[in-house]
Amino acid sequence: LLRVENLTKSFAGRRVLSGVSFEVAPGEVLGLVGESGSGKSTTARCVARLTEPDAGRITLGGRDVLAAGGRELRALRRDMQMVFQDPYSSLNPRMTVAALIEEPLAVHGLEPDRRQRRRRAADLLETVGLSAEHLDRHPRSFSGGQRQRISIARALAVRPRLLICDEPVSSLDVSVQAQVLNLLRDLRQRLDLSILFIAHDLAVVYYLCDRVAVMEQGSLVEIGTRAEVYGNPRHPYTRSLLDAVP
Ligand code: ATP
Ligand code: MG
Repeated sequence: LLRVENLTKSFAGRRVLSGVSFEVAPGEVLGLVGESGSGKSTTARCVARLTEPDAGRITLGGRDVLAAGGRELRALRRDMQMVFQDPYSSLNPRMTVAALIEEPLAVHGLEPDRRQRRRRAADLLETVGLSAEHLDRHPRSFSGGQRQRISIARALAVRPRLLICDEPVSSLDVSVQAQVLNLLRDLRQRLDLSILFIAHDLAVVYYLCDRVAVMEQGSLVEIGTRAEVYGNPRHPYTRSLLDAVP
């Protein structure tokens, strides 16, 4: 579904990505792990066309992401939605939950009928495990985990094929992390979603991902199935990451 080839990026003359290549198959959850500063978010941002790489090629369902413009780019953006780490800053506090979930529908010209849009927002809230009674509340009155559920509902509104999750549970308490991970696992099954899942916590990745890619200083040093990477890490950096787990 997603193919990333030889992604390279420098900021102010400093290399942050050097030839990153990987694929995400339809219905697959690929974990992207690595220490802070290894280039995980930059990779995700390039895939979502939020950052322009210096070189490389990205295709989604065979469509060239980096060359797309206009209508084609809008369609690609619809097909890949992002969920960010911090549900406190990624949801506009002045908007109601209904408005937050309906916004991407309006942006992409889906569900032009107001009542249909609201109905869809209500369905989506229930899909992520929240009651439709909350539609007219504002994000600040929710807990972190609930806000992350709202972010996920918003991302799912336009029926993306790929969900890019950049440390979606890193700012949550451990017990709440488990709930949100369970939700993602459940959604992935139900909606046949593909997920690029970024985390620095290896336990979190183990729980959710089919395959794991390991980044070190802008390079992808290892990629394999969960069993391969965790059971028989090949790269010294991966071994040191796994040894560091308490
Ligand atoms: P973390 O786990 O902390 O989120 P990460 O793996 O996501 O880290 P990136 O955010 O991709 O890492 O950053 C990789 C490197 O690129 C870092 O050294 C960072 O300082 C640098 N960097 C990222 N964005 C920019 C930018 N817009 N301008 C300059 N440097 C940047
Ligand atoms: Mg990051």
